[in-house]
Amino acid sequence: MPGKPKLGQNFLNDTQAIQRIAESLGDLRGRTVVEIGPGAGAITSALVARAAHVIAVELDAVLAAELRAQYLPGRLTVHQQDVLTFNFAAASASAQQPLLVFGNLPYYITSPILLKLAASATSIERAALMVQREVADRVTAQPGSRDYGSLSVTCQMYGPIQTLFTLPPSSFSPPPDVHSSVIRWRFAPRFAELAIDEPAFLPFARTVFAQKRKTLSNNLRAAGFAPDAIASAFTSAAIDSRARAEELSLESLAVLWRVLQQADHRK
Ligand code: SAM
Repeated sequence: MPGKPKLGQNFLNDTQAIQRIAESLGDLRGRTVVEIGPGAGAITSALVARAAHVIAVELDAVLAAELRAQYLPGRLTVHQQDVLTFNFAAASASAQQPLLVFGNLPYYITSPILLKLAASATSIERAALMVQREVADRVTAQPGSRDYGSLSVTCQMYGPIQTLFTLPPSSFSPPPDVHSSVIRWRFAPRFAELAIDEPAFLPFARTVFAQKRKTLSNNLRAAGFAPDAIASAFTSAAIDSRARAEELSLESLAVLWRVLQQADHRK
C-alpha cells in the first residue's frame, strides 16, 4: 500500500517484530490499550487478539474508515483524530484503569507525541513505541553520553525508558531513510520524590541544555540567573563550576533547581 509521506506512513511488514511489540508490555488480558497511528492495522490485529479493548487513534480518514470496517465494535474503537488532541485522561477514566499505549509513531511528530504522553502520565501505565533510532538513543541516554539532553531529562522525569530492539528500514513499506527502535516506557513521575515543581522544572531543563557546547554556568547566566546565585547554588549542590549540563543526573539537576529556587525566593 502506498503511504502518505507527510503523515509518516511507513507500514510495518515484519511479522516477528509485530509479535514482539504486542508482547512487549506483558499480559494484555482485561486491559484497555491505545494504539497511536494504527495505519492499515499491522499491529492492531495482534492487539485486538490479546486485549479487552483497543482504542485506535488514526488521523488519516481513509485508513480509519477501513480499520473500523474490519472489526466488530466492542473490541476496537477507532477515533479518526490527531493523537495530539486525544484525551488520555478521559479514556483511562472511562476504562477505569491506567492505559497501555502502543504505536509505530509517525516520525514527523515524535517529540510532540512523547511530550503529550508525558503530560498524560497519570493516565498511562506503560508504553511501547517505535521511534527513529536516534530518538531512542536520546530518550534513553544517561549522564555523560553525547545524546543526553533536555529530551532525555524530560522523558526520564516521567519514568524509566529502555530500548527493546532495533529494526532496519527494510522492515517497513515503504522503507524509511532511518533505522527504527522500539522503546518501553514505564510511567512513574519523579517530581514529588525529587521535590520539584513539574511546570517550572521542565523549562529549566530546556534552559540548562540550551547550548550544549556552553558550560552549565554560562547557560544559566544566559537565562538570566545572577553569577553569585549560580556560584552559591553550585557550592550547595556540590557541582563543579565548569560542569556541563550533560554530566548531571536527574537528581543533581533537581538539587540545583531547588537551590536556585530558594535563592530566588530570598531576593
Ligand atoms: N501502525 C501502522 C504500522 O505499523 O504499519 C502504521 C504506522 S505509520 C509509521 C504512522 C501512522 O500514524 C500512519 O497510519 C499515519 O496516518 C498515522 N498518523 C500520522 N499523523 C498522525 C496524528 N497526528 N495522529 C494520529 N495518527 C497519525
